[in-house]
Amino acid sequence: MSDPDRKKIELPANISIRDFAQIIEISPIQIIKKLMANGVMASINQAIDYDTAAILADEMGFEATLENQEAPVEKETGNVPLWRQMIAGENEASLTPRPPVVTILGHVDHGKTSLLDAIRDADVAAGEAGGITQHIGAYQVELKGRQITFLDTPGHAAFTAMRSRGAQGADIVILVIAADDGVMPQTKEAIAHAKAARVPIIVALNKVDKPNSNPDRVKKQLGENDLMPDDWGGNTMVIPVSAKQKQGIEDLLEAILLVADNTDIRANPKGAVIGTVIEAELDKSKGPVATLLVQNGTLNTGDIVVAGNTYGRLRALFDFRGRKVQKAGPSIPVSVMGLSELPSAGDVFKVVGSEKEARQAILERQEANKKQTSAAKKITLEELFSKIKAGEAKELNFILKADVQGSLEPILNEINNLGKGEIRINILYAETGNISENDVLLASASQAIIVGFSVQADVAARRLADTEGVSIRLYDIIYRLIEDVEKALKGMLAPEYTEKAIGKAVVLQVFSLSKGTKIAGCRVTEGEVRRNGKIRVTREKDIVYEGEVSSLKHEKEDVREIRTGFECGIGLKNFSDVQVGDVIECYLLEKTEIE
Ligand code: GDP
Repeated sequence: MSDPDRKKIELPANISIRDFAQIIEISPIQIIKKLMANGVMASINQAIDYDTAAILADEMGFEATLENQEAPVEKETGNVPLWRQMIAGENEASLTPRPPVVTILGHVDHGKTSLLDAIRDADVAAGEAGGITQHIGAYQVELKGRQITFLDTPGHAAFTAMRSRGAQGADIVILVIAADDGVMPQTKEAIAHAKAARVPIIVALNKVDKPNSNPDRVKKQLGENDLMPDDWGGNTMVIPVSAKQKQGIEDLLEAILLVADNTDIRANPKGAVIGTVIEAELDKSKGPVATLLVQNGTLNTGDIVVAGNTYGRLRALFDFRGRKVQKAGPSIPVSVMGLSELPSAGDVFKVVGSEKEARQAILERQEANKKQTSAAKKITLEELFSKIKAGEAKELNFILKADVQGSLEPILNEINNLGKGEIRINILYAETGNISENDVLLASASQAIIVGFSVQADVAARRLADTEGVSIRLYDIIYRLIEDVEKALKGMLAPEYTEKAIGKAVVLQVFSLSKGTKIAGCRVTEGEVRRNGKIRVTREKDIVYEGEVSSLKHEKEDVREIRTGFECGIGLKNFSDVQVGDVIECYLLEKTEIE
């Protein structure tokens, strides 16, 4: 029977549930439920044949015909997630699926903690086991015989701290959004974190029990934030839940398994043992106790583990219910005793063959860290550009903060227009408000630059930016901001430092020391000359030297500074041509980015 109102679609001989769901514009979960009702168990990635698809399509009001050619296979794009890099040494054939590790992010008060509790309580298996769940920073639940591991320290800081240390705890992010409140600043921040880490997002639309909950409004906002809900034709699963009334929890767990099936979450249980420190604390009776999340291989009691700057032989392993276990395979969190000191949350750990090897590994790591901090850890526009030039980076990551929403849009438009060339511009996050520590954390983990328009960086953010080497650039004129981004793309950006003149001296006499070293006997005529200042020597109108002070003496004493009117001896680094009458200018280089 051909009905003119029915939409005609073409389907291939075989189609994955995901693709099929997209064509008929309904959620893959609904399709899976329909199949289950008919006794067919399938995951989102599994293919169904044309006949089955045609029956389902018919039920949904579509008229299907068989298409001639196979649908093109979806290609994987984007960078490899960090956990994948951690198991890069493993042979493909040795990898087997492991439980997904999930973390919960979202705006404050949207229900992250409540949801974690509801999921833990909903797990019947845990109840049956009779064990009291211990707070070790992670727990596991079981659905249909499959395990899911939850990291139970919600929040962006924990997630990002791991990434900036080269680890990645979570495979999937649950983004909690309160249905009565909608997408808020920290929701956007969470989206940026997950996207920067290339971790898939499932939205838990929480508080649907509230009378003023408005799911459609949230879905619209999600669409605006590049997370189009799957029931609106996009790829993001949005699961309505109520953490308070414990509703929708199983749907959420089911969604996690669906996404997991689609995300190639694997490890080699027999491979090299490596993972991430989730938590660590000093226990009065047990000594340092750390929660380790195994990401590859199997951890055993008695193993020698190196974690961050510490190591030790594991005396005992406990699961999240506090029960002693002998070993822990991939995705399993265990609390361990035996490390000599406390590692930091986010440190990567590995198992080594002997204590000697452990000490060696720590030394190597410390050396590598030293090099990293002294060399190119800084993420300045100039350095990013040189990386781009060297082919090491193909995109510039930005975090944009502005005073008001009205200034964000024009800036975003302009920046996006600039990014149409060879180098992609990636705005991780654009929001109103001052630059905070969270912004710096995200920037550090994602090699991004923070650009602020008519905003300030708060003290904690500046301090963190300094230690993490994150570049913050502040502007008050949009044109200047855009110009700098453009210059950065072309590699012409002026240095981030400006000169601040602090003093002048004239050379009255030149003294020769041994090995050709010359000392300029001077009188300071303006301001002061400082031992740590930069120096420029001019002779009439020519600049004859630019460099640094190698020594500064008043009479015979080494001094740090000399003021106007005083005489002094100035040694200049690698310069022996100083002459009577030369003018020595002293200046400081100051960062221009933060006023
Ligand atoms: P977090 O800051 O994201 O961890 O949020 P919490 O889990 O602490 O929850 C914040 C507030 O929202 C608490 O008062 C919870 O009782 C309440 N809440 C959480 N989930 C729900 C829900 O599903 N329905 C309702 N009505 N309230 C909820």
